[in-house]
Amino acid sequence: MSNCLFCKIIDGTIPSDKVYEDGDVLAFRDIHPKAPVHVLVIPRQHVATLTDAQDPELLGMLMDRVRMIADKVLNLTAGYRIVINVREGGGQEVFHLHLHILSGKKLPF
Ligand code: AMP
Ligand code: ZN
Repeated sequence: MSNCLFCKIIDGTIPSDKVYEDGDVLAFRDIHPKAPVHVLVIPRQHVATLTDAQDPELLGMLMDRVRMIADKVLNLTAGYRIVINVREGGGQEVFHLHLHILSGKKLPF
């Protein structure tokens, strides 16, 4: 998707503070962190929202990578929160599916 911000981060047109990448996903630090640790995990494949992610394999892969990145790459031994904002009503601003990993402070619900 040529006009998608996160596709541009994937293809390197827009720089990012990467923490992990493989053939399926990219993880990078959020530019406006809401917690001391705030990392976004995105699939390389452009999928606009969770509603469009109809493939259980894609969803399983994403959850597996998020768990691995949080536990093994970021080493968040005290724990963390995973957030997916879904469409406008859920606060989604970038329409390329992404999971937020948040940690490092007491998070309000
Ligand atoms: P959401 O509201 O779930 O769509 O989250 C989008 C997130 O992307 C927000 O937390 C933004 O701060 C973050 N963001 C926007 N542009 C960039 C960027 N260029 N690099 C890193 N994070 C970004
Ligand atoms: Zn995209």
